[in-house]
Amino acid sequence: LLRIEAATVRFGARTALDAVTLEVAAHETVCVLGPSGSGKSTLLRAVAGLQPLDAGRVLLDGADQAGVPPHRRGVGLMFQDHQLFPQRDVGGNVAFGPRMHKVPRGRREERTAELLDMVGLPGAGARAVATLSGGEQQRVALARALAPEPRLLMLDEPLGQLDRSLRDRLVVELRRLFDRLGTTVLAVTHDQSEAFALADRVVVMRDGRIEQAGTPLEVWRRPASEFVARFLGFDN
Ligand code: ATP
Ligand code: MG
Repeated sequence: LLRIEAATVRFGARTALDAVTLEVAAHETVCVLGPSGSGKSTLLRAVAGLQPLDAGRVLLDGADQAGVPPHRRGVGLMFQDHQLFPQRDVGGNVAFGPRMHKVPRGRREERTAELLDMVGLPGAGARAVATLSGGEQQRVALARALAPEPRLLMLDEPLGQLDRSLRDRLVVELRRLFDRLGTTVLAVTHDQSEAFALADRVVVMRDGRIEQAGTPLEVWRRPASEFVARFLGFDN
């Protein structure tokens, strides 16, 4: 479904993505792990079309996305800092994508209610975004990213600000939801246990490169380098 070929992004002298090649198959969940500054967010932004490439390409269902604007890529991205629309209420945020895609109102409202239930905010549709805590805003952003049922769902630290018990519950529900909908997911996380619970494959990044990719078990059992071993050991 997604193919990234030798994608390179430079910011001045700094290479944020260094010839990254990665494939994500349909219905697969891939989690990207790596230290701060290793290029995880840049990778998602490049796939979404929010970050131009200096070299390489991004293909979705075989089609080169060069020049295709973000809203025509059929991908959803939940940002690390969620970026909700402050002037819309919670329901307006979640229903934004479906409204853009002209989903009928009844279906839209049903789905919004379903998603708010799922993220543990039942009945919050009419609340103003500014009255929500950081973690609640994050959950609304997650619901918003899921709402349009994109062919590729990208999540940047989707559960970063949530406490352990909520995180554990949401990981299980997300896994179930992705399985039910057959969603293809590329997610960034700092949390190892989250990656291992959610991912069919994990990708460990370092300095803009992929240091190792494999099933969670493979990476866990046979880290490809000391860096990976130490990262897995010290993370958390
Ligand atoms: P974190 O875990 O902290 O979110 P990350 O792995 O997502 O880190 P990126 O945000 O992808 O890291 O950044 C990779 C590198 O590119 C960093 O060194 C960062 O400072 C740099 N960078 C990212 N965006 C920009 C930008 N718009 N302008 C200049 N440098 C940038
Ligand atoms: Mg980031």
